[in-house]
Amino acid sequence: MYPVQVRLNMKQLIYADNAATTKLNMEAFEAMTPWLTEEYGNASQPYSFSRKPKKAIAEARQIIAACINALPEEIYFTSGGTESDNWAIMGSAFADSEKRATITSEIEHHAVLKTCEAIERLGYPVAYLGVTKEGIVTPEALSSVITNRTRLVSVMYANNEIGTIQPIKKLAEIAHAHGALFHTDAVQAIGHVKIDVKDLGVDMLSASAHKFNGPKGIGFLYIKKGVCIPSYANGGAQESGLRAGTENVAGIVGMAVALRQNCEAIDQNMLHLQELEQILVDGLSKDNVDFRRNGYKEHIPGNVSLSFKEANGEAILHRMDLMGISISTGSACDSVNTQVSHVIQAIGLDNAYAHGTIRISFGKDNTVEDAHKILTALIRIVG
Ligand code: PLP
Repeated sequence: MYPVQVRLNMKQLIYADNAATTKLNMEAFEAMTPWLTEEYGNASQPYSFSRKPKKAIAEARQIIAACINALPEEIYFTSGGTESDNWAIMGSAFADSEKRATITSEIEHHAVLKTCEAIERLGYPVAYLGVTKEGIVTPEALSSVITNRTRLVSVMYANNEIGTIQPIKKLAEIAHAHGALFHTDAVQAIGHVKIDVKDLGVDMLSASAHKFNGPKGIGFLYIKKGVCIPSYANGGAQESGLRAGTENVAGIVGMAVALRQNCEAIDQNMLHLQELEQILVDGLSKDNVDFRRNGYKEHIPGNVSLSFKEANGEAILHRMDLMGISISTGSACDSVNTQVSHVIQAIGLDNAYAHGTIRISFGKDNTVEDAHKILTALIRIVG
């Protein structure tokens, strides 16, 4: 059970920012506790006390691999999405002195964009693909830029602000036709839509447990067998010598339990989340609120990016917060300026709407009542 004070706080909240993080699955929490208490052995030691944690890690690796149709030895545990993205991009860039170029998109998460900027400063060229108004990276855009000097193409599976799902299979085919590797940041997608790495044809895929009801500070990078990238952390022999550091046994076990549960319930969660989305969007339309919905019909279930005419996303967020509702904006702001986010800029949204952008990301625990309460609150603010 959670400590009492945490449970009391949760009671008053309508949490609708599941793209930022999700509530820990209770079964995952319970599966984690032995590894934080009595079974604290270091999984890399040779004595019998370490046998159980070693076995638990091996089982977790199998569970996770099965969820995405990978081999267990293709799963490398990391501290989360940021580390997985850094590893995939830097590792690929540094692996080949001839093929040095990287291609990514303008709407990636900063874990990708800032890493690309870092390798650019080291002299590795990076091209940033623009997107359509729905946030799609088109195969045509990639084909027009890729050359046989491209080492890596990295395009996110689904965008964290507007939810758009990319044509990953086609983009990976184009990358391979030019002898490049293909990486996808699937942090927002995994556990929410079905992912089969073999069918997609990706070489690397980033994931983070706290986005699918697992614990924070743990994730993985799928690296297809045969793909060679240098180690990310040097030291011990953990993760086949590619990512050193004593294993986070509890995190790894919790991540596996959470991912398996989410994957088993994907279809039913999707239907539920679509219903919540519909309540919100239909309700706003019926009330004649002047808004745009950002994104594409193929999007992450529950992700609703809305832009209200002549409104201010930050102000909406704070007023919703006062009503006990947690949502997010499409803006990155500092104390002086409120800037329109790079994603909203990239889709070319009309200025009259861009500043009034918010993101509501429903999770499987949200109820129909939550959706109606959010709708009522929004109409009160922007209606
Ligand atoms: N990539 C995407 C698309 C994300 O949404 C996030 C988190 O918001 C990350 C990467 C970073 O993941 P983590 O918080 O596990 O470092």
